Amino acid sequence: MKKLILFSLILSGAAHANLHLSPPDFMTSQGRAVFVDFKTAEYDITYDLDLERASVKTKIVFEARSAGNPIFDLVPTPYSVKLDGKKVKHHMISFPGGVSKLRQVAGAVVPGTHTLEIENELTSNVMFDTDFRTVSSAFWIRDLKDRLFMEQYIPSNFEFDQYKMTYNVKILGVRKAEQDIYTNGAITQTSPVSWKIEFPEWYTVSCPYFHMTPRKSMKRLDFTYPSISGRQIPITVYSPWRSRTKKFKPEAIRVMQELEADYGPWAHPSFVAYGTMVGTGGMEHAGATATSFGALDHEMLHSYFAKGVVPANGNSGWMDEAIASWRDKGYPRNPTVGFEGSNIGGQSIYKRNTDNRSYALGSAFMAYLDFRLQDMGGLKAFLRGYFQTYKHQVVTTEHFKNNLEFFSGFNLDEEFSTYIWGVNSSDTEELLTEENPHHRPLSKAQLKSLL
Ligand SMILES: [Zn+2]
Repeated sequence: MKKLILFSLILSGAAHANLHLSPPDFMTSQGRAVFVDFKTAEYDITYDLDLERASVKTKIVFEARSAGNPIFDLVPTPYSVKLDGKKVKHHMISFPGGVSKLRQVAGAVVPGTHTLEIENELTSNVMFDTDFRTVSSAFWIRDLKDRLFMEQYIPSNFEFDQYKMTYNVKILGVRKAEQDIYTNGAITQTSPVSWKIEFPEWYTVSCPYFHMTPRKSMKRLDFTYPSISGRQIPITVYSPWRSRTKKFKPEAIRVMQELEADYGPWAHPSFVAYGTMVGTGGMEHAGATATSFGALDHEMLHSYFAKGVVPANGNSGWMDEAIASWRDKGYPRNPTVGFEGSNIGGQSIYKRNTDNRSYALGSAFMAYLDFRLQDMGGLKAFLRGYFQTYKHQVVTTEHFKNNLEFFSGFNLDEEFSTYIWGVNSSDTEELLTEENPHHRPLSKAQLKSLL
């Protein structure tokens, strides 16, 4: 009995200590680069209307498992980094194999709890209107290219880590801020010019949604949806055009009904959807999305797979697009996979983005798994249980495979090592060019125009 209690205590205490999911530490010319476990990250985000400048002051409390130089990421170059209160140098480095870039603190730590304080300028997707004294700012993300999660804006850890994020947002240069904020965090106005936004502890670097606009520049509809759980879920849909916003409401309700029936209750406190223009595709956040109308259903599915159960790394991201595309295609069931092999889940362990062949190859693999599982209710029956058991947790391809095998009783070694962790066959190359309408790559100017 004692042992049992001890075991459950360890489990609950370690709920979001995900260092076992990080890639291995590695050596650089600066020393040993060590992955660390962020506990909390508090961001003071200040928009100065007179200077037309946005800056971020961050305090991160983290735990180091081994001695070395902590690593994190931030695309804008920080102008100050302090480790445990002391100013330290920092270096831009590459992961082994050059698959991605990141930042390494020059100061070393011993195992235990430490703090990092970082200051940087917010340079992407922010606009100042000095005539009307308002700011537009958004933390859009993308997952098909490298370094386009929160690290574009604020110091962040890598995808494996779940930690409590708080944004303290402030506008300087006005007595009273004329702003609206759309977010998937819990928001409190703390003064006429400031707000505090607190995000759930299980969030990763790809989960928060933050969009600040001039007051009333968007046409919004707020309503509640009666979840099958009995909860009333607050939903906000908004866009620059009343007609577009109106169109989003019934579609959001329709998709919510479909997804709850298939996979169980919505796993987020609310749902926020920003309706962008036709042809822009969309991007999913946790219980939130910025999306064109045509991709709304696809992005909402991602609140189950991608931001309900959350991928731990670039090699696990294929699953989200595979499941979403399998649904987009009407859940086909096929006795064969239809290609010879691929490595969509078997690239460098340091890779951070999702392989863009995951839509075509991954959904074909799901259709095949559905065929194999047809006597057990099909793949959807498995996915429903998988989502409900592991929601708000970070998962890997290995975890998905182990659970599939447990559910079905099959050994799927050969299937995964051929189609997911294998060698690319020539027939996968033509699928490379199949453009996915749901996650169109947008230029910097296009992203800014969505503000
Ligand atoms: Zn998608």
